[in-house]
Amino acid sequence: MNVLVCAACGRRLSEPLRLLPVLPERPGRDGREGPDGTRHAPSTVPRGTCAVDPEPSGAPYVPHPDPEWMGAAVPGTVVLDPDGPGCLMSAGPRDTLVVHPDDARGFLEPDPSSTEIGCCGPPGREGPNELCPGCGARVATLFADCSGPYETHYLPGAVRTVLV
Ligand SMILES: [Zn+2]
Ligand SMILES: [Zn+2]
Repeated sequence: MNVLVCAACGRRLSEPLRLLPVLPERPGRDGREGPDGTRHAPSTVPRGTCAVDPEPSGAPYVPHPDPEWMGAAVPGTVVLDPDGPGCLMSAGPRDTLVVHPDDARGFLEPDPSSTEIGCCGPPGREGPNELCPGCGARVATLFADCSGPYETHYLPGAVRTVLV
C-alpha cells in the first residue's frame, strides 16, 4: 500500500491508498443525511483508494471561450460569468489526486485563512483549503458541501507517494 506524504517536509498526510486506474463517475447527491447531520453526496472514490483527476479542478475560474457552453465549473454546479454572456470553467490544476475525505481526516488541517462557507462543509471553490500540519504548506482541497462532489484533492506537486 501507498501513503501520501508532504513533498516539503515528509509528514504523512493520508491513510494507506490503492491507486484506481480511472476516476469513477461522480455519484449524484442522494439527499440522505449522514450520522453527523450533513447531506453531501457519497464519496466519489471508495475508502482506501485514490484516483487521478485529469480535468482542471477548483480555482481559478475563467470564462469559457464558447459563450454557448453550459458546463459545470465545479462538478454539479454551473457558474454564470458575472461579466459576460457565458459560463465560467475551472482553470485549476490538472492531475490532482482524489481520495475519500475520511482517508485524509486527521492528517490535514483546515486553512484558517479560508473564508468559504458551505451549508454542509467547505465547497472547495476558492482553491486549496487544507494545510500540512507539519509545515503549513497548502496541500489539498476539501470539497464537502451538499451542492457538489464529496472529495479531497491533493495537489500533484505538494505530495509524494511512498510505499509503506
Ligand atoms: Zn447542505
Ligand atoms: Zn509539510
